[in-house]
Amino acid sequence: MPLINKGMYSQQNFSGSDSGSDFRNPKSIWRNTVRIKPGEHAVLRFITDFKNGDMSQFHGIPGMTQKGQAFTTYEYCSKKNCNETGPIVNVPCEHCASADERIAKTTSRYLTWVFHYGTFHVEANPFLFTPDGQEREGQVAWDQMQKGNRTFYRETVKKPQLLNTSFTLFKNVEEKYERYSTLLDRTFDYSSSRPTNITQYSIELSDTTVTTDYAQEILDMSNDLPDLELIAAKLITEVDLFSLDEPVTVPADPQKYENAFANMANIAEDAEDDGGL
Ligand SMILES: [Zn+2]
Repeated sequence: MPLINKGMYSQQNFSGSDSGSDFRNPKSIWRNTVRIKPGEHAVLRFITDFKNGDMSQFHGIPGMTQKGQAFTTYEYCSKKNCNETGPIVNVPCEHCASADERIAKTTSRYLTWVFHYGTFHVEANPFLFTPDGQEREGQVAWDQMQKGNRTFYRETVKKPQLLNTSFTLFKNVEEKYERYSTLLDRTFDYSSSRPTNITQYSIELSDTTVTTDYAQEILDMSNDLPDLELIAAKLITEVDLFSLDEPVTVPADPQKYENAFANMANIAEDAEDDGGL
């Protein structure tokens, strides 16, 4: 539920969990959530200010990958997430009734909209090719680059995305809100590390240079994005988001275009990549 309560919602679209196709569907919530691995960081700016983010209760369901790696999926609790008129989703919660105490208890998770400039990955784009070596549609190579003493692969995104945080990271976000009195108008690094066998996440001010900060566009976006509480409750399961990456236009005069391109190429050769986005 939101930090500030906004009232009741209709429930006719309740469709439950459908994680199987989430990875393949570019409009799925899963695909539109910022995801980073240990050692990586995403550069972002909050679109939603702190108090308009959603804080709902979830059950942590332990799972295991085929390779034996443990993971947790979070399922919305239809019993505990209530507003003054009753439950937001009016179906019984099967997890509250679980005999496994770890599953039956709930945890708060914070969901908010951020503008995702891009991510510095530790590995090249693993989705660039299909298993039989064909280039996959819609995938681009990430630029290999040096940042400090480390090599990263830079993925440019430049679109609104969801940030889904644990309660621990939420406290980190809250601390930033308290310090700056707003989360807006600053660029943050959302980072992941794995010093022990637990992956940790943090939000800190970013020192990455962004070519265009899209400050006004980001402020303008805030009212047009799908409702966070409906997304948390899985009453919205797909989003259609747009990238602010400049469209490529071809000038009418091909010779002029060739010259411009040649000049641009020269500049690019001389200029050092400063690790910006
Ligand atoms: Zn429950």
